[in-house]
Amino acid sequence: MIKIVAVIVVLFLIYKILFKKSNKNDIDSKDNETQAEVMLDCFFCDTLVAQNEAILHNGAYFCSQECIEQRNKDAFNR
Ligand SMILES: [Zn+2]
Repeated sequence: MIKIVAVIVVLFLIYKILFKKSNKNDIDSKDNETQAEVMLDCFFCDTLVAQNEAILHNGAYFCSQECIEQRNKDAFNR
């Protein structure tokens, strides 16, 4: 009986170690994603803006709502 308990404990420890490892890998890959963040040029004012903060409008990226409005005015005037 003690043997069975010992085996279960060992298996549990192995499971825990493996689980911790894979958890750490997840965090590492997330860090890498943050470092490899894509920077985009605003279509209107050429300001660099992170992809997750950029606003996609008519297939072009903008740094802010104002730039979209300015761009729309420009297109309208032409
Ligand atoms: Zn802009």
